[in-house]
Amino acid sequence: MANPSLLILPGDGIGPEVMAQVTRIIDWFGEKRDLAFDAEHDLVGGAAYDKHGTPLHDDTMARALEVDAVLLGAVGGPKYDDLDFSVKPERGLLRLRKEMDLFSNLRPAQCFDALADFSSLKKDIVAGLDIMIVRELTSGVYFGEPRGIFEEGNERVGINTQRYTESEIERVARSAFELARRRGNKVCSMEKANVMESGILWREVTQRVRDAEYPDVELSHMYADNGAMQLVRAPKQFDVIVTDNLFGDILSDCAAMLTGSLGMLPSASLGAPNADGRPKALYEPVHGSAPDIAGQGKANPIACILSFAMALRYSFDQGEEAARLEKAVEQALADGARTPDLMGPEGGTPITTEEMGNAILKALDASL
Ligand code: NAD
Repeated sequence: MANPSLLILPGDGIGPEVMAQVTRIIDWFGEKRDLAFDAEHDLVGGAAYDKHGTPLHDDTMARALEVDAVLLGAVGGPKYDDLDFSVKPERGLLRLRKEMDLFSNLRPAQCFDALADFSSLKKDIVAGLDIMIVRELTSGVYFGEPRGIFEEGNERVGINTQRYTESEIERVARSAFELARRRGNKVCSMEKANVMESGILWREVTQRVRDAEYPDVELSHMYADNGAMQLVRAPKQFDVIVTDNLFGDILSDCAAMLTGSLGMLPSASLGAPNADGRPKALYEPVHGSAPDIAGQGKANPIACILSFAMALRYSFDQGEEAARLEKAVEQALADGARTPDLMGPEGGTPITTEEMGNAILKALDASL
């Protein structure tokens, strides 16, 4: 059988630096776990603009639609700030998300013991935290029509429309229930059914999908404002949270900060399953291209490495190998490996991006 295929798009700024460590880890799985990938590299963002005059070449887009999963580093940088909106680096990423129809955005908030002191919350509230936020990514108020700024009488009015069809809610709900089955089997759906009709429909449809297709999964409903409070009061009560595009944008950032550094946060965006059952998928760290530290060996590669762990689990059904990689990251941190963003008040000597890669590879070797 052919190896699973990966399209690797390192992008700009620290993207290539953190992706270089992921590439070493991909090679490790090929050599040591008999889990080889056919990986090809290409350009996205400013790097693609510099070569092709567009932030995503049509050929790259076509390959993204063909491969089993796409891994992306980061895009953007001050060099491209003055470009026309249509060719800005971010447009490359947006095009990928749109044409792959990635409607389900997964953002885990996981607190590694070694970093529990980094959270702005008390250690006992976040230690051992492991929750997953599923955000609807292609509809809702960021896309609904009518939208715009219009004249109304003698003043202007700004309009955006929250709009969800039943099928849009159904598919993201399914993706949350599927995920829950691989985790703690619990989903909490968040909306504002008390004040929004779209919330009433959201609540009704998620319940209907659960009752008809996932009776084994526990489903609860919560107003999104209460959800925000609960996330900082007692986040460990949650397993999977499913919510719309707008609330998901805010709640996932809030949950992310429970765990400390931006350099630690992975994400996945999933679409509809292909004929072989694999969803279209893009894996990327939450952080951007960090121009302030690019080229200095200071970037933390863990967010990008954990994004690859998500690919192992959600695209390639390699849950055990994903857990092996996550444990190796945890072990490296427990052994004291710290890039500058992870330096606590106690100080110490920070290591480089590559040295963090070394520490994780060492822990992977020790796991055999
Ligand atoms: P950023 O995420 O790039 O950086 C914010 C801060 O976090 C910086 O101080 C940076 O040094 C630090 N940081 C980020 N990732 C880190 C890592 N792995 N290790 C250590 N420190 C890290 O956000 P920004 O500064 O607002 O944006 C910079 C550029 O990135 C902009 O052009 C923006 O448009 C783009 N951006 C891209 C994406 C993406 O590719 N998905 C996301 C956000 C921002």
